[in-house]
Amino acid sequence: MKASAFSYARATSVANALELLAGYGDRAKVLSGGQSLMPAMNLRLISPELIVDIGELAELRGIAVRGDVLSIGALTRHVDLQRSPELAAHAPLLTEAVAHVAHPAIRNRGTIGGSLAHADPASELPACMVVLNATIVVRGAKGERRIAAEDFFKGIYETALSPEELLISVEFPAARKNSTHFFHEFARRHGDYAIAGLAAQAIVDGNVLADLRLAFFAVGDRPVLAEAASKLIKVAVTPAVLSKALAVLAGELDPQEDQQASASMRRHLAKVLMARCVAALLGRPDLNAGVIA
Ligand SMILES: Cc1cc2nc3c(=O)[nH]c(=O)nc-3n(C[C@H](O)[C@H](O)[C@H](O)COP(=O)(O)OP(=O)(O)OC[C@H]3O[C@@H](n4cnc5c(N)ncnc54)[C@H](O)[C@@H]3O)c2cc1C
Repeated sequence: MKASAFSYARATSVANALELLAGYGDRAKVLSGGQSLMPAMNLRLISPELIVDIGELAELRGIAVRGDVLSIGALTRHVDLQRSPELAAHAPLLTEAVAHVAHPAIRNRGTIGGSLAHADPASELPACMVVLNATIVVRGAKGERRIAAEDFFKGIYETALSPEELLISVEFPAARKNSTHFFHEFARRHGDYAIAGLAAQAIVDGNVLADLRLAFFAVGDRPVLAEAASKLIKVAVTPAVLSKALAVLAGELDPQEDQQASASMRRHLAKVLMARCVAALLGRPDLNAGVIA
C-alpha cells in the first residue's frame, strides 16, 4: 500500500518549521529520519495532510558536552550516537543501548528526536532518557518548554509534545566517575523491538548500591522507573532482600499482552532482568541463582 496524498514542505529553520506547523494541529506531521513515520503512512495508520521535513536543519544535529551536562540535538542519528566518543566516555549506557535499536540501515537514518517523539513503549531510548534523568527540550510558537523525561512519556505513542511543537534536544547529566550501568533486552532477534528490557544506572560503593535507577521498557504503556529499586539502595542485598524487591516490581508493572508475549511472561522477564542486573552490578552471581520461582 502507498501513503494517501499529502503536501510536503521542507523547513529552512526551526522558526520556519513552527510557522509551517501552525494551525494544522494533528493534520500535520514532522518528518525526521522517516523510519517510523513513513511505514505508518504507507500502512495508512495515519494520513497527515502536510509533512514538514526538518531533516536539513543542521542546528538540530550534534552532541555537545557542557561542563557536567550532555546535550544531544533531536536530529542526531542513531548511528552518530553509536559512534560518539563523547557518549562512550560520558553516557556508556546510551552507547550500549543504541546498538539494540533496529538494524544498521534504520540506524543510519533514524534520529533520537524521532524515537522519543514516536514514544513506542518497546523502544530503548525513551527508557534510557528516563533512567538518565534527562530533560526533553521542546519549542513551539509560545517559546521553549523543558520537560523531565519521566513526565514526557504519557502512553503508547503519546507524549507531552503538542502537534505544533518540535522536539529540539535532550539534556542529561554526564555519568559520574563512580557510576556504572546495565542494559539488556529480550527480543526474538537482535534489532527487533524488545519483548522486555531494562536500562539501569547505579553507583556501587563496596558491596552496596549507593544509588540505583531502573527503567523497564516493553512492560507497560511507557518506560517504567521502578520504585522497587529503592528496596536495594544502601542495604546489604541478600537473596531474601532481592526477592522482596522483585515482588514489589511485579506489583508495580502492568504489562500488555500481544502476539509476542503474555502479560505474565513479560512480568516474569522483567524480574529475570532485575535479578541479573543486581547480580551483575554487585558482582554477585549467587544473587541470580534461585531467587525467581
Ligand atoms: C523494521 C524496523 C525496526 C525497528 N526497530 C526498532 C527498535 O528495535 N527500537 C526502536 O526504538 N525503534 C525501532 N524502529 C524505529 C526506528 O528506530 C525509528 O528510527 C525511530 O523510532 C524514529 O526516528 P525517525 O527519525 O526515523 O523519526 P520519524 O519516523 O521521522 O518520526 C517518528 C515520529 O516522531 C515525530 N517526530 C520526529 N522528529 C520529531 C521532532 N524533532 N519533533 C517532533 N516530532 C518529531 C514524527 O512526526 C513521527 O510522528 C524500527 C523501525 C523499523 C522500520
